[in-house]
Amino acid sequence: MNDKQEVLIKKYPELERAIKSEEMLWINKNRKPYSTIKQDTVPVEMIFEAETRWKRFAPYIMAAFPETVKTNGVIESDLLDINNMRNKISKEFNVNIDGNLLLKMDSQLPISGSVKARGGLYEVVKYAETLALENNLLKETDDYSILNSPELHEFFGNYTIQVGSTGNLGLSIGIISAKLGFKVIVHMSSDAKEWKKAKLRSHGVEVIEYATDYCEAVERGREESDKNPHSYFVDDEQSVDLFLGYSVAGLRLKRQLEEKNIVVDDDHPLFVYLPCGIGGAPGGITFGLRDAFGDNVHCFFTEPTNACCMLMGVATGLHDETNVVDYGISGVTDADGLAVNRPSAFVGKIVEPHLSGIGTINDDKLYVLMDYLLETQDIFIEPSACASFGAIIQESLNDYIIENNIKSKDITHIAWATGGDMVPEDARNEYKEKAKKIRANIVL
Ligand SMILES: *Cc1c(COP(=O)(O)O)cnc(C)c1O
Repeated sequence: MNDKQEVLIKKYPELERAIKSEEMLWINKNRKPYSTIKQDTVPVEMIFEAETRWKRFAPYIMAAFPETVKTNGVIESDLLDINNMRNKISKEFNVNIDGNLLLKMDSQLPISGSVKARGGLYEVVKYAETLALENNLLKETDDYSILNSPELHEFFGNYTIQVGSTGNLGLSIGIISAKLGFKVIVHMSSDAKEWKKAKLRSHGVEVIEYATDYCEAVERGREESDKNPHSYFVDDEQSVDLFLGYSVAGLRLKRQLEEKNIVVDDDHPLFVYLPCGIGGAPGGITFGLRDAFGDNVHCFFTEPTNACCMLMGVATGLHDETNVVDYGISGVTDADGLAVNRPSAFVGKIVEPHLSGIGTINDDKLYVLMDYLLETQDIFIEPSACASFGAIIQESLNDYIIENNIKSKDITHIAWATGGDMVPEDARNEYKEKAKKIRANIVL
């Protein structure tokens, strides 16, 4: 054990398993009643502003992406009952989940097939709107489908959008930006899958590859972008717009549950499980959910054991001053969407009073869970997204339920499936092969 590890364990004995890259569920003692939380970094009104902006953009989204006509240009996903999966994991992991288990299918979000279609697209449309308004090419009262015209494409062609990505953020930013006519450069970390790079190039996006980790790709991308006054950098480490794009999910989910006649109240709480990389997506969604459901929603993040940066940042209060590698945690994981060593500069600070806990899960189990979901529900989601089952399979979740005087049968559980639809057939088959091998040997 190195000095840093020893000091840390002395101060935070509950992090011992994290440092050993073993699975755990950390419970947040600092979760606060919603009404007592005061923070002004991101005023909640901005969630509604974001939803209103999406409404203005709906005609454009329909014009540019006809597959969204059936939802009137709203980029939203289904919510499915997956109680066969619940029964399977209850049995295999020997945990008692007796409430309903639902899957939030962001894996099938239109345009980019991952949760990044929320934040990534939002930040780009907001930037495009700002540019067009400033240059008198658009009024807020216009039908925004005019943005899908050759004149506007030519105008946006004078600007470049850049982003650092482990894959899915690059896909979202790349596809929407290219569609609007922007030049796009995506700075990809070593974790990014080949097919994601190929897909982006097929959309005319310039992909720059780095042999280094995500933080480094972001830093280099930011430097490159800063050199060009007509370049805009989507900054996953600091972006409030990304966060807001994700946060809209809260009010959308509320409507969706009402439509399904699923009651959420003091006696029927909602438990939501969110895979976490740098924190923007799960953080923004948690922020929106707490605004929509107050104290009746309990949000848990889940990270790979080898890249548990948000856990280290929030549990120690050091946030982006932590890097998992400093504590001997490798940062290397197959879960490319979650392969982040250092958490966001602001998300942990905002979500700390909202968050119920953070779980970790090892890579092998992600594949096994992927296979269980295929077997029991015939649904494919990518391994990163299977982290959404990481907290529910931890026995100690039950202690949290008991401590909070909750009746477990009255909980509605939602696993947030953050990605999968764009994974090509051959990559899916590779994942399945790997799952089979792991299942043949593994002792869970
Ligand atoms: C990006 C991503 C996440 C997590 O989002 P962050 O903003 O990085 O925390 C989760 N799942 C998938 C599939 C992703 O691509």
